[in-house]
Amino acid sequence: LIRLERVTKRFGAHTVLDQLDFSVDAGRHVTLIGPSGSGKTTILRLLMTLTQPDEGTITVDGQALFPAPEKQVREVRKKIGMVFQHFNLFPNMSVLRNITEAPVQVLGLARDEAEARARELLELVGLSDKLDARPTRLSGGQQQRVAIARALAMRPRVLLLDEVTSALDPELVAGVLDVLRDIARGTDITMLCVTHEMGFARDISDQVLMFDQGRVVESGPPEKIFGDPEQERTRDFLSAVL
Ligand code: ATP
Repeated sequence: LIRLERVTKRFGAHTVLDQLDFSVDAGRHVTLIGPSGSGKTTILRLLMTLTQPDEGTITVDGQALFPAPEKQVREVRKKIGMVFQHFNLFPNMSVLRNITEAPVQVLGLARDEAEARARELLELVGLSDKLDARPTRLSGGQQQRVAIARALAMRPRVLLLDEVTSALDPELVAGVLDVLRDIARGTDITMLCVTHEMGFARDISDQVLMFDQGRVVESGPPEKIFGDPEQERTRDFLSAVL
């Protein structure tokens, strides 16, 4: 579903991704782990077209995302949803409106249809009683669950998750991870996830990619990467974070 080929990304003289190749099949849950600055977030930002590669090609669902004409980029982008570390909700709109806005404006859904879908999603994330609330009145964990519902409202094929629990108070992390586990188990959505929550990564991933200095140094099923890693860099990283 997602394919990156020989993708290089530089910031000035700093090569953040170095001739990176990787692909993710439809329905798979892939987790990116590795030290800070190894390029994980940059990959998600490339897929969201928040930044562009210097070299290489990116395709999603058989269509080029880069290089590609702008109209095609807009089409392909609709297949991808992202949840950020800092929820980025619209503060002056109700929870319901946060979720319905993009489906109405971008997908052209009728408002009552978008609202029906938003109610279902709020139930999925356990926030049915908050639909009229302003995001600022919610806890960080609740805001993040709204952000997840908002991303799913666009019915994306791919959900990108960028350290979605790192900004949360520790007691709020589990609720968000439980929602993501339900989504991983209960839907066919493809997930690409950057996380420091190794227990969560072990639970939901089909494949774990260990990054270092813009390259994949090791990849495999979670039992292998967490249980019996081959590379010294993977072992060092895991012993520092576990
Ligand atoms: P973290 O876990 O800290 O988010 P990461 O593996 O996700 O790390 P990236 O955020 O992808 O790493 O960043 C990789 C490198 O690119 C870092 O050294 C970062 O400083 C640099 N970088 C990222 N964005 C920019 C930018 N807009 N301008 C300059 N340098 C950048």
